[in-house]
Amino acid sequence: MKKTLVALFFVFACGMTFGQLQSPDQFLGYKLGTRYTPHYKIVNYFRHIVENASQLVKLEQYGETNEGRPLLLAYIASSENSTRLESIRINNLRLAGVARDKMAPNAEGPAIVWLSYNVHGNETSSSEAAMLTIYELVRADNSRAKEWLKNTVVIIDPCINPDGRDRYVNWFNSVAGENADPRSFVREHSEPWPGGRPNHYYFDLNRDWAWQTQVETQQRLIKYNQWLPHIHVDFHEQGYEAPYYFAPAAEPFHDVITPWQREFQTIIGRNNAKYFDENGWLYFTRERFDLFYPSYGDTYPTYKGAIGMTYEQGGHGRAGLAVIKADGDTLTLRDRLIHHYTTGMATIEISSMHANRVIQEFKKYYDKARSAPVGDYKAYIIRADNGDRIERLKTLLDRNGIDWSYAHVTSFSGFNYFSGKNENFKTAANDIVINSNQAHSNLISVLFEKNSRLSDSATYDITAWSVPYVYGLETYGLNSYVAGTSKEAPLKITEKVSTGPAYAYAVKWNGMHSARFLAELIRRGVKVRYAEQPFYSKGKSFEKGTLLVTKTGNTASTNNLDKIVRETAQTADVEYTVIESGFVEKGFDVGSDKVRFIKPPRVALLAGENISSLGMGEIWHFFDVQLHYPVNVVWVDDLDKNILKQIDVLILPEGNYRLFLEKSMNEALKDWVITGGKIIALESVVAQMSRSDWGIKMKDIDNDKKDEKKEDKKPDYGSLKRYENRERDDIPNDNPGAIFKVELDNSHPLAFGYPDYYYTIKRDDNIYEFFKEGGWNVGYLKKDNLVTGFTGSKAREKLKDGLIFGVQNMGRGSIIYLADNPVFRSFWENGKLLFANAVFLVGQ
Ligand SMILES: [Zn+2]
Repeated sequence: MKKTLVALFFVFACGMTFGQLQSPDQFLGYKLGTRYTPHYKIVNYFRHIVENASQLVKLEQYGETNEGRPLLLAYIASSENSTRLESIRINNLRLAGVARDKMAPNAEGPAIVWLSYNVHGNETSSSEAAMLTIYELVRADNSRAKEWLKNTVVIIDPCINPDGRDRYVNWFNSVAGENADPRSFVREHSEPWPGGRPNHYYFDLNRDWAWQTQVETQQRLIKYNQWLPHIHVDFHEQGYEAPYYFAPAAEPFHDVITPWQREFQTIIGRNNAKYFDENGWLYFTRERFDLFYPSYGDTYPTYKGAIGMTYEQGGHGRAGLAVIKADGDTLTLRDRLIHHYTTGMATIEISSMHANRVIQEFKKYYDKARSAPVGDYKAYIIRADNGDRIERLKTLLDRNGIDWSYAHVTSFSGFNYFSGKNENFKTAANDIVINSNQAHSNLISVLFEKNSRLSDSATYDITAWSVPYVYGLETYGLNSYVAGTSKEAPLKITEKVSTGPAYAYAVKWNGMHSARFLAELIRRGVKVRYAEQPFYSKGKSFEKGTLLVTKTGNTASTNNLDKIVRETAQTADVEYTVIESGFVEKGFDVGSDKVRFIKPPRVALLAGENISSLGMGEIWHFFDVQLHYPVNVVWVDDLDKNILKQIDVLILPEGNYRLFLEKSMNEALKDWVITGGKIIALESVVAQMSRSDWGIKMKDIDNDKKDEKKEDKKPDYGSLKRYENRERDDIPNDNPGAIFKVELDNSHPLAFGYPDYYYTIKRDDNIYEFFKEGGWNVGYLKKDNLVTGFTGSKAREKLKDGLIFGVQNMGRGSIIYLADNPVFRSFWENGKLLFANAVFLVGQ
């Protein structure tokens, strides 16, 4: 579970002869594709390669996974280029205009092709293909490869997600018999929960490129951005019935994608097709896999000047070593890896053939990005908040190589993302500026677009991610660049810490840092309270939710309470104020019952079959990595009265729960809530509870039915749909993920630390009736509050005037309904405090 960055170094080999170089078959002792290769053997094979072909290959360990597996990059180049990899890298950054030395680039090249394998752990054929690919590239008698390497550097990441891969491979090897069973209904074709696709915390690493919430991505993107390859391929697998998919990609293409990027996708696709045609293999292009959401292994490289592509082989966790398909043919792991090997080699070949053009166009892309950036605005000014969201945003920008600086204090006019209007405004110290005339302007434009620019509305992922809403930070778009900015941080305004004896310590409740502070204090056994109302002490104002640590109640740690608070504040990066008297100037005294004791919650999180591993993993990661607060993960089928007795908070992530249909368990849950338990129900779990008798009701707005009543005498020509339009006809009901403005009752603890609004990522059309009694309507949609993104016309009609976040009281306990996921993919930064409120403050 180590997460430390390991020392990064090149591994040089001692053996210098090619004679000992073994093929994967020789090295592994079996024919590649007849067994699954565990990750450590792939690592050993790559080490073997560099030991026996050190003139052509350098191997670098760039990091480590959550479970301690090494992350590797192999650099394959001609022996001449191998000796000057560092100068090739720096020259490439000069081409992009991001080299520190600002020297003129040499336009000769070489082309840089980066091949990424096995981002989804159970799409296993690709890491097997990586071994064959590197072997063929360095094998002494492969003269074609030698030719390509003269003007092309190949970078291979043999496995982006080793923890996920080994979860699948170790499971498969543990259940497979002597011979693979190709019948799809047998055990080896049905992975147990959660499956090998995601990483240790069940994150989909192919949704994480831009946000970099996971250690694998964080470490890899450092390297990626130091190289900025010209071609990037992300190798995947899809359902085993599907033919192979390669570029060109499907619509929608994001409109920042350049004509050259489109053109070269087609050139690459045609070269792949040549080999598939020769072998009679089926394939398809320009369907299903679009280029829009910025956090994939094809789009992110594309927004950084590369030809970014996804290749998909039929296979996946259900394919085993061999599987009989509907047409009666048997697809083997061997077939799958050979296809991936073929496209990998064909891509290197065609890139080498066009190396000069590839390099020229890469340079042109970056020249234009700096001199004539696209996008809504020339500059963006982001207002610093009083919490830590601005700090988190700076980290995101830094990780993506986006330049920002501090604004000077003066007046500007620009488009306010929150009000939707052009306004005059005055900057304050710590506000930041992003000018778009810089290398990565395309990525900036995508991250800050105020309206999603879809060239086609059928997409299979969220359609909105605009940073101001994700972070909840007031942002202005300006039509001119901002000069006179500074890289130097303005002097930090530190809280005046009183020197008198402490009666209590106060910390503002305004971001994840505050939640981290609370979690750490609880872990250290300190009792913490929170103020339900604002108060003033020594002329300073403290908002609702302010944490208070009093001497009273903490007698056990009185002697070193000061030290504990100081240390914890440092760890969590928060400032604290010493309060000398319990008698406040305005508001309620520290001893008032409006200052609530926070009973340390014992939290359980349900996991298992029929629960979304992604939804569960986001919450697990939230507690384990972000808060460092204990969470008890419980198999959903094990949940019983005895477990309920031992916990205070039960979290039900997205999933399908039988327990609401089982009378005795449904009642046991209610009894537990009545005696003081707290349920946090997320996403469609709220819908399931609305169909049971919990008290929350789905809003019934079936427009079709109303229309039927009104017009029941007229013939319904609307149902005469053309067969060929069947995919498009589903679109009106679609809401793959759009941003809506939610009105908040921020006097309720669920919304402490927020203004009276919140931007939510809505990924369905579920909305609920307002509570009339027995509950609090904390977050709701009023009228049509779609801010940005695609929502089908019927779904949009429905998403009005209803509840999204609610709290229902039941006996001494409560139920918190979060119809939208506030910790979505962990990049939805502004929702994290809301979730912390649900866990720690509500019901105390
Ligand atoms: Zn995949």
